Amino acid sequence: MVNSNLVVDLTIQQPGFDLPRCHWSLLNRFCTAQDHCSACQKRWRQVDSDLCACEEPQTVSRIIDSCPLTKLAGGLSKLHSVDDDAVAWLTNYGGPQRMHTTTAAVTTTTTTTQGDL
Ligand SMILES: [Zn+2]
Repeated sequence: MVNSNLVVDLTIQQPGFDLPRCHWSLLNRFCTAQDHCSACQKRWRQVDSDLCACEEPQTVSRIIDSCPLTKLAGGLSKLHSVDDDAVAWLTNYGGPQRMHTTTAAVTTTTTTTQGDL
């Protein structure tokens, strides 16, 4: 299981459970390594390139651990702690740049659908 080391007690509510849904959803995407990163989108045939704006392949782990444009000091463990820095990171990551990425993915999907008709 991906990142199973993050959960130390299955019987308690995980950190961040009380976050707004958009943050909780994004947090879970990172903890399960299933975010809409370029590598995932390429694997799902939604985009042609897996490259990030930093010109390296954009994977979930790279977004949080090492991308100079997005990394969070402390990485996934810090994010899972859901402290103020982690919530600020989730807020900024889900901001305008993220919305642009989502819009591009929707446009690609729409074009593909129209081509199939
Ligand atoms: Zn990058």
